[in-house]
Amino acid sequence: MTLELVGHSSEQDRAAPLLIRGMTVSYGEKPAVFSADMALRAGEMTAIIGPNGAGKSTLLKAALGIVTPLAGQAQFFGQTLDAVRGRLAYVPQRASVDWDFPTRVIDVVLMGLYPRLGLLGRIRGNHRDEAMGCLERVGMEAFAKRQIGQLSGGQQQRVFLARALAQKADLYLLDEPFAGVDAATEKAIITVLKSLTEAGKTVVAVHHDLATVVDYFDNVLLLATQVIAQGPVEEVFTKALLEKTYGGRLSQAVMPESAVS
Ligand code: ADP
Ligand code: MG
Repeated sequence: MTLELVGHSSEQDRAAPLLIRGMTVSYGEKPAVFSADMALRAGEMTAIIGPNGAGKSTLLKAALGIVTPLAGQAQFFGQTLDAVRGRLAYVPQRASVDWDFPTRVIDVVLMGLYPRLGLLGRIRGNHRDEAMGCLERVGMEAFAKRQIGQLSGGQQQRVFLARALAQKADLYLLDEPFAGVDAATEKAIITVLKSLTEAGKTVVAVHHDLATVVDYFDNVLLLATQVIAQGPVEEVFTKALLEKTYGGRLSQAVMPESAVS
């Protein structure tokens, strides 16, 4: 690290969008995440990869204060979660969202605007336009008045991404954004995510498809309760480290061609 005379705020601007230190989470006797460190690089896309039950969702939830860790801290842009909440957008794993309550698609996206409206803010025409613009970016504008619960999983996933876009966040935390979506939806989502990082935003996504890692991501964090490795794809997405992460669970058949030997 170079020593420079910089003001407080510019130092904060250059701070990692997310820095996790020594995070340990336990639901029972055995930790789900043990002593994990993670650092995200601004303007880049990072994948969290590991087998089922590796603690991927738990790591994000602990960073966001959704579950309480036994130990460890998370800092966002060099600050506490509470100080920067408005700069974060989180899309949880799809199965965890229950839409029994009837809610229109446009209203789901408008929820993303609430933090910026403030206490006395009202939804106005321009907010609706903004929400519609976000739906257009994910190709869902024709569904604005439909009930969210009536859409397919992939369509719902696009709507949640539209809501995240409406938040105009600087850091997007996505838990398996491509799980169970069709090829067209996957393409739409990755296009939007790449345009976010091109605009200097930061994206971290739990990802399960090893075949697309090299194509989609700049960095990888390999997790198996503990962090096995983290770094640029070309350094960390290696056959040896993947085998270490998946143990016996990674058969030769799913070892991606794109993994570095
Ligand atoms: P991943 O997202 O990598 O599949 P999770 O973070 O969801 O893994 O889960 C890690 C471990 O913690 C798993 O063994 C899972 O069964 C357990 N777990 C996750 N959530 C809970 C919970 N709310 N209560 C008890 N155990 C949980
Ligand atoms: Mg998960």
